[in-house]
Amino acid sequence: MKVILDHVGIAVTDLDASLAFFRDGLGLDVERPEDVPSQRVRAQFLAAGSASLELLEATSPDSPIAKFLAKRGPGLHHITLRVADIRAALQHLRERNVRLIDDEPRTGAEGASVAFIHPSSAHGVLVELKQVARDRPTPERPKAIQLGDIEIVTVSDGFFYLDGGAMFGVVPKIFWEKKAPPDERNRIRMAMRCLLLRGARTMLIDAGAGDKMSAKQAEIYRFEREYNLAHSLRDAGVSPDAIEIVLATHLHFDHAGGFTERAGDGSIRPRFSRAQYVVRRGEWDDAMHPNERTKGSYFLENYQPLADRGVLQLVDEDAAIMPGVRVRRTGGHTMHHQIILIESAGKTAVFAADLLPTAAHLPEVWVMGYDLFPLDTLDFKRAFLREAVEREYLILFEHDPDIAAGYIREKDGKRYIEKVA
Ligand SMILES: [Zn+2]
Ligand SMILES: [Zn+2]
Repeated sequence: MKVILDHVGIAVTDLDASLAFFRDGLGLDVERPEDVPSQRVRAQFLAAGSASLELLEATSPDSPIAKFLAKRGPGLHHITLRVADIRAALQHLRERNVRLIDDEPRTGAEGASVAFIHPSSAHGVLVELKQVARDRPTPERPKAIQLGDIEIVTVSDGFFYLDGGAMFGVVPKIFWEKKAPPDERNRIRMAMRCLLLRGARTMLIDAGAGDKMSAKQAEIYRFEREYNLAHSLRDAGVSPDAIEIVLATHLHFDHAGGFTERAGDGSIRPRFSRAQYVVRRGEWDDAMHPNERTKGSYFLENYQPLADRGVLQLVDEDAAIMPGVRVRRTGGHTMHHQIILIESAGKTAVFAADLLPTAAHLPEVWVMGYDLFPLDTLDFKRAFLREAVEREYLILFEHDPDIAAGYIREKDGKRYIEKVA
């Protein structure tokens, strides 16, 4: 059982007076105030590093806090420890004959599950266990953007979680955690946002992780795919058979997992039955021969069946794949990773894939630890960002959990993303 200090509760007689010490004296940042009418308590949270202090004031003489104050005076009231699985934690404690106040978890503030341990079993301290509510994954519906003659639709294969440290390479957590708050296992939420293009042909760019992942992988990556590419394409009004071209930025599982599917007889086959799959030759060769460093991301079942069924087209260089759509090699992330440029009516949109996985990766040196050739990423990114600002490219983010599209703007030498609704 792993516990993390969530907050320390302190009973006070006068909330406003106590702020003079905790806020003004100690300089702690005031977080949210909270009224808990059922407990006849008013609470004020103050941030103290990764944990917080909770000041508790009674709002009625029959409040548990009023009783505590009458008996013991102001001071430490309880500590709250966060656990990943509160039921398992209670069971673990019961087996050790720990006296519990709550045998079953109750619902606390912000939908969290909470339960108290009796002070007699905790050396005089009232201990509250808390399991935070997992945000219910909100499905991301398809969004359409018209770019000249080409309709661009963002289609979602849901979300997954990757280690925040690995996602930001050498950038210290104290910087990235503000932009991408990690979960209790240090993972950050990432979209798997693919692109559907309707122009001269109907094209899908990347296809998310798909449905073939094992239970172990699901545990590692915490997939939120209740709403996935199948639903998204349906909501965009496109049947899988209508897709004529599937284009890969590269063959990592979070981009190419959805290229194939498991058939009823257990065999694996291309998922889009009428599509030609277009892959860069260098990427194909690397993905067919994973090494110790890359084998965690390259799974042959995601793409080998394409060659077996004769639906694979390899492209050697930067080229147009259909009118208005061309690929450009970036290298860096993988040797042959490519981005997709969509051009029509004098405008350009760019599907940035893992060159710029999220909006937080905008600073040039915020390069993923996953990148095989980070200095190549840096070189390409430096030139590309300049070009994107000058030519006002619409950037389409594959992994940003919130931002599907935006322009890179520059003001007073500082760059930022102007989100497109
Ligand atoms: Zn990748
Ligand atoms: Zn990726």
